[in-house]
Amino acid sequence: MPWMLTESNAYGNQMNFLSIIEAKREGKKVSDGEIHDFIHDFTDGKIPDYQMAAMLMAIYFRGLNTEETRALTLAMRDSGDTLKFPRDKRPLVDKHSSGGVGDKISLPLAPLLACLGFRVPMVSGRGLGITGGTLDKLDSIPGFKTVLPTKQIIDVVQKVGCVICGQTERMVPADKKLYALRDVTGTVPSIPLIVSSILSKKLAENIDALVLDVKFGTAAFMQTKADARALARAMVSLGNECGVNTRALLTDMNTPIGRAAGNWLEVKETVACLSRRTGVPPVSNCSGAESKKMETGRMPVLRDDLRELVIACAAHLLLQTHRAKTLSAATKTATECLDSGAPLDKWNEMLDAQGADLDALNKKLARDYTAPFVLELKSSKAGFISRCDARVIGEVIRDLGGGRLTKESTINYDVGIDSLVKPAESVNRGSILVRIHAANSADAKAAAKKLETAFKISARKPESAPLISQIIVG
Ligand code: URA
Repeated sequence: MPWMLTESNAYGNQMNFLSIIEAKREGKKVSDGEIHDFIHDFTDGKIPDYQMAAMLMAIYFRGLNTEETRALTLAMRDSGDTLKFPRDKRPLVDKHSSGGVGDKISLPLAPLLACLGFRVPMVSGRGLGITGGTLDKLDSIPGFKTVLPTKQIIDVVQKVGCVICGQTERMVPADKKLYALRDVTGTVPSIPLIVSSILSKKLAENIDALVLDVKFGTAAFMQTKADARALARAMVSLGNECGVNTRALLTDMNTPIGRAAGNWLEVKETVACLSRRTGVPPVSNCSGAESKKMETGRMPVLRDDLRELVIACAAHLLLQTHRAKTLSAATKTATECLDSGAPLDKWNEMLDAQGADLDALNKKLARDYTAPFVLELKSSKAGFISRCDARVIGEVIRDLGGGRLTKESTINYDVGIDSLVKPAESVNRGSILVRIHAANSADAKAAAKKLETAFKISARKPESAPLISQIIVG
């Protein structure tokens, strides 16, 4: 045949996408070339949403094998601009969390990593539902800009060592379109779709090493440890195959991280973590015996899971980039660096480079609270905290206005909770369990009623669950 006629549809789509949807619907393998082409055409607006929605549902039910997942991830990465950094002896690293309540790890981690000699192009996201988003937390800082052009992202990383910003319009546009469609078609919880969505964005940063914090528990994307492990294994394997040294920590998300949750309150806790202020709850949280110890000047040692996880992420990246020989040596290095105070200066340097008004920030930090109304929820009996449910707390914060019910929702940055008591800690009758920061008294009272169900107080001290339950390496 001297020529071939290819019909194009109303979208200018030159490929027969229908036959690819049908193939996947029947559980057949789709080739690398086909995946590349349909991602390209979808990004260009040549494939209608209704056809891509059908494809996503076919993938949801039939899955993708390793080769297809890799092809999808790379096609998505290549759908837009990638970050291109000058050659430099400082390795490029990043961390990704599958999301949780009170999960502000990225905020102190980025400056800590920069002080440890890494470059950190931390391209982050916003929260939806009960899990908070790094960019929303940063938006509570006066003047801080999370939307930066590509050149500025690179300049800040080269100069300061770290940046935390949003995806530019031109980075991984395929994921933006696909994620929006998944969100409204019930196709978010699919391992190959999650892996390709997360890794395409991380690969577009052109990093050398990536540590993944994959959470399990009541407030996690993956509720069971087995599901979190399956997701972590898929990401670790594909990340390494694509040339990024990737490992994952499986971490507990039954209880919020730290003692504060809500956008501004988490920034405050970040500064405390970088200042080595421990966020110890008020004296009234301690039992009689512990109050006695305080009178004698010996504070009860409270677990600091925020600090623990920040240090663990940094230590693993030191190992992954061969900057430390053992995990204990890496942990020591990361701990000393955090305690040196240098990461606090680096944090301020990063904020300044991204437009923050540091005077206004410091004035805001000096205030105990910025929400119009604060209510203390007190314990009705003495005992030990045996449950402090992250899901209930996340829902309360969202309902206070601190999270989004839909992508269009506006956020109240000042609301949330702090002074949270955590499992295995003791309380007296009348001790503060949590402080609620709300827009008004009615909201605070409704939150208190719901928050009562988040806590369980037992006569016996429960076993503490390990924060990091498994490390998955490639
Ligand atoms: N976060 C992402 O970026 N993508 C997903 O698919 C799920 C969580």
